[in-house]
Amino acid sequence: MAGMKRFASVAALFVVVAVFLTVPPAGSPAQAQAGPFAITNGRLFDGTGAAVIDDGVVVIEGARIVAAGPAGEVAIPAGAFIMDAGGGLIMPGVIDNHVHITESLITGDILTPWLRAGVTTLVDTGTVRDGAVVDGVLIVDGIEVVRAFIVGVTERPPRVLLAGPLLTAPGGYPATRREPGYEVGAQPVTGPEDGRRLVESLAGRADIIKVAIETGFESDYDDVGWPVLDPETLAAIADAAREAGLLSRAHVTQEGELAAALDAGFDVAAHTPIDPLSDEILQRAADAGMIFVSTANIWGPDRGEAVPENLRRYLELGGRVAMGTDFPFQFGAQMPVGEMQMLVDGGITPEQVLLAATRDSAAAVGREHDLGTLEPGKLADVIVVDGDPLTNIADMANVSVVLLEGELIVPQPSTLAPLGDTNCDFTVSSIDAALILQHVAGLLPDFACVEQADVNANGDVNAVDAALVLQFVAGLLFDIVNVDLSGVRPSLHTTLWNS
Ligand SMILES: [Zn+2]
Repeated sequence: MAGMKRFASVAALFVVVAVFLTVPPAGSPAQAQAGPFAITNGRLFDGTGAAVIDDGVVVIEGARIVAAGPAGEVAIPAGAFIMDAGGGLIMPGVIDNHVHITESLITGDILTPWLRAGVTTLVDTGTVRDGAVVDGVLIVDGIEVVRAFIVGVTERPPRVLLAGPLLTAPGGYPATRREPGYEVGAQPVTGPEDGRRLVESLAGRADIIKVAIETGFESDYDDVGWPVLDPETLAAIADAAREAGLLSRAHVTQEGELAAALDAGFDVAAHTPIDPLSDEILQRAADAGMIFVSTANIWGPDRGEAVPENLRRYLELGGRVAMGTDFPFQFGAQMPVGEMQMLVDGGITPEQVLLAATRDSAAAVGREHDLGTLEPGKLADVIVVDGDPLTNIADMANVSVVLLEGELIVPQPSTLAPLGDTNCDFTVSSIDAALILQHVAGLLPDFACVEQADVNANGDVNAVDAALVLQFVAGLLFDIVNVDLSGVRPSLHTTLWNS
């Protein structure tokens, strides 16, 4: 299944991109906190496969992690801001390894909800091909269009990695699917030399290389069957990707296609095939180090029945699995709890699911050196999950803290009252608190006001939190007796203070 959506509104996209290219958005995703930052009082799942540490600490300086380990063994630098995880699970930000966002971006900002839910990296597996003409507009650089659009729709996107167009045989999947628009995402390849040339043209722009190897068999497609690239061309593409330092990824749906991908030397299967896979091919893929992206949810309950079982057996044989949803098929822009739950229901342990969503998803895009685990030197993509997803994976929906490259994303106000629209019932108004935080503490630099409600279910900093922060950090506020704390969740007692 492709997930390559229609691009009927790409002309409109160009108008918007042009605007944003000339007017850079306010704010920057650059790390903005002053000084070191520590998360304490949580169970630490560092994503390496090591046992959970019951009382863990993560220390961050700038965009990177400088220490992660048991409290008492990890030194917290003097002057660090400390965030209390409230006993939640401290873990790496989640990576969704298979999404298609181009069309959704046209309709607005879908990226902020993902990031706020704790998904810090998205892997988009199909953009518009260079030279496509959409609604009369020539697309010179399909990857640049999407990158510019991402910057245009949100000030603070999650990290988005892009595959470029889906390389395929002339007339092959998905170019000739019945739905209009699919052809603009498919890049026909005429032979080994053409394949090599195309990969070289994508090097430096794309983050991964993706190829379709689907012969066609699904009853809901018009086509009875599709041509696929010959073995020489597939091998030339995989080789050229390797030479360019990019991982290659094959869209496959059944065992024969998976075998062709292994023959050619592809690194990643963009989908887990839906037929029950033989032990032989699973062992062969495991030995080759191939990573399977899960995408269990897209096939529906009947056709996809074998997917979690294939993955369970693959893990047992030493294979590696990454988590991906194929958004926008079944689930929205959110923590992919549904995909995770399907894997757990299929017999994969919650720990294996979390490793697939972090460490092995980083490996599936060649980023294991700086993403996917909480270790010194890694980029500080860190989340705190309330509850215990290692026993109840559904708890992944309850993310109370999100950092992206060391920048605090959650808690933070999501809906900002206009500056001047102020005065809550507290002794110190929320707007004062926000401004003091902004200028004195330097911790939450991007907002002008905070919400005036006592409780914010999203875990945002609100007036109550601001008052507590002021009390502890700035020492400026002594009377918070009028603040009703009764409805505030424990994790919202942010307890930031200056050590
Ligand atoms: Zn897809």
